[in-house]
Amino acid sequence: MNQEKHSSPILERYSTRVIAIGFGLVMVLMLTLLVFSLSRLTAISSALDDIAEEHNNHAALAYTMYNASRERAFLLNNLTFDADPTNRVEKIQQFYSLGTAFGKARTRLREYNLVPEEVSMLEEQNIFTSVAMRLQQEVINLVAADRMKEASRLLQDKALPAQAREFEVINAFIQFQAEETRNSVAAATRLHASAQATLIAGGGAAIILAFLIAVFVSRSMTNLMLRLSGTKVRLEESVKDLEFQKQALDEHAIVSMTDALGRITYVNDKFCQVSQYSVEELLGQDHRILNSGFHPKAFFAVLWKTITSGKVWHGEVCNRKKNGDLYWVETTIRPVLDASGKPCQYVTIRTEITRIKEAELVLQRGKEELESLVSERTAELREREELLGLITSSAHDAIVMVDDSGALTYWNEAADKIFGYPREEAVGENFLALIVPPKSPYLERYEASLNQLATAESGHTGEAVELEIVRKDGAECFVELSLSSVQIRGRWHGIGIARDITDRKRAEENLKLQATTDVLTGIANRRLFNSFLETEMRRAARHHLPLAVMIMDIDHFKQINDAYGHQVGDDVLVELTRLVSQIIREHDFFARWGGEEFVILSPNCNAESMQLLAEKLRIAVETHSFSDISRVTCSFGLTEYCTGDSAENFVGRADAGLYRAKEHGRNRVEMA
Ligand code: GH3
Ligand code: MG
Ligand code: MG
Repeated sequence: MNQEKHSSPILERYSTRVIAIGFGLVMVLMLTLLVFSLSRLTAISSALDDIAEEHNNHAALAYTMYNASRERAFLLNNLTFDADPTNRVEKIQQFYSLGTAFGKARTRLREYNLVPEEVSMLEEQNIFTSVAMRLQQEVINLVAADRMKEASRLLQDKALPAQAREFEVINAFIQFQAEETRNSVAAATRLHASAQATLIAGGGAAIILAFLIAVFVSRSMTNLMLRLSGTKVRLEESVKDLEFQKQALDEHAIVSMTDALGRITYVNDKFCQVSQYSVEELLGQDHRILNSGFHPKAFFAVLWKTITSGKVWHGEVCNRKKNGDLYWVETTIRPVLDASGKPCQYVTIRTEITRIKEAELVLQRGKEELESLVSERTAELREREELLGLITSSAHDAIVMVDDSGALTYWNEAADKIFGYPREEAVGENFLALIVPPKSPYLERYEASLNQLATAESGHTGEAVELEIVRKDGAECFVELSLSSVQIRGRWHGIGIARDITDRKRAEENLKLQATTDVLTGIANRRLFNSFLETEMRRAARHHLPLAVMIMDIDHFKQINDAYGHQVGDDVLVELTRLVSQIIREHDFFARWGGEEFVILSPNCNAESMQLLAEKLRIAVETHSFSDISRVTCSFGLTEYCTGDSAENFVGRADAGLYRAKEHGRNRVEMA
């Protein structure tokens, strides 16, 4: 869909209201300006009236004062020339009444709220008036005394000049009033001009505002029209799309519509095709016509509750065709809400899923069968496992299992007893590290055996190996370990069966020891000596190393036996052995040759060195104090190995040396 940019949608939406508000604002602004300007003009007019009236009043009263004063001056002047006394009295009375008129006008003027300049001018006038009045009264007194010349002179010289000053002040007062009136008129003219300017500015602003609103409204209206035409095009496109979608939907989906009470108001062709009912048979019915009886009542109660509350319902429903066959539909029911938000009709779209459901049922059945088979097999396996557990736990031999990393995965009860570790401690540990000490000579053999199994095929059984192990309590024991390999899920595992052979090994070692050791003295016997001799002769021949042998024989031993008894003879033999053992070197091999004869084989030793050793031994025996008898001596015969010697030749030459030593008096060393 074409996504157009919508400009000022809110303004456009409310454009009519905006126009009305705009014009309203302009009208209010203009009215406010009019009222303000009119009120200003009225105020000015009223103020001007007041000012003009007040200044007129001030000026009128000032003129009254001015005229009264001038009249008095004329009367007084006439009086000084009037010879008739009656006329004089009348003029004097007029003079006084003019004074009263002057005083009244001045009093009224003072009652106004005068500005300080006016007050000051009236004060000045009062002073000059007082002076003038006093002089005028003196003139009247002179006239009354008929001193007319003096009166005329006083009037001309003093009274009239004094009054002239009074006139000046009153005249200044009148001029001030005229000036003030002019000022007021000027102020009024200015105010009038400002009011006119305000009206022109306000009117102008209102016209500009009205123009702007008109421009804005016309632009908004243009946009609105453009959008309306765009919307119309899009709506036409949408209608086409919707028709196309409806066609597509009708081809694949089962579509129906119902009213608020669930009565069918529309069905598409697919609906009729699948249900086998005609449109006429369906319209006005509700969907119970398709009820298969497969679902419980509660199922439809939930469905109805969902859609009547305005929500969409989605689920799988089993329906019945007109011919009674069942079919499955995946159903979506969407309520159409009226203006008050209540569902007024329902649109239902269904997709037939009968094949999928059938496949699901087949799968479900298969799954159930498989599960039952698995549970049967599991029970069998458990039984076998229990049996195997019984066998392994009752076995006398240790049965263990290791994975391809050498870690123990199985450990039976006999393994607890043989190796001393409980199952919880052993499982997970490395079997080798657990039972074989780090420097054991058996370690290599065990590892080789394991490696052989790791590369062997499943079921391969390796040779049984004898191992010396260390139990948990530190005791050293011997086991015979048979290893075989198995492959479990592609991983190699070794099964080991170990038997405790400690007792047998001890017995064997004893036998071996007995076969090679002289019982009386505890040193090697002639058999062990012979095997050692063979080895050393081969080594000497191969590496061209010297090798010497010596035979020593107790002198007259028969006599010792005869004299002290056989037991003492035995004791001498034991004591002599201990003495010799202390003197010979570490690499000298000392053995009992037979009877009271002993033999010493020294690797890396020539005849001279051997002679020194023999001499040392001879002296040691001779000088040693034996327990029961005072003196024992020995004779020595020795020789060095010559290439090509047989054992008999080699030892025979030493024996010949011994024979010579006996012959030459015993307690001697003879080299041959
Ligand atoms: P010669 O100085 O010539 O060697 O005199 P001899 O008496 O030592 O030599 P002979 O070979 O005549 O005697 C060896 C004796 O050693 C004979 C035997 O009774 C004694 N004899 C051999 N084996 C043992 C033994 O194990 N214990 C005791 N007590 N005597 C033994
Ligand atoms: Mg002897
Ligand atoms: Mg002897």
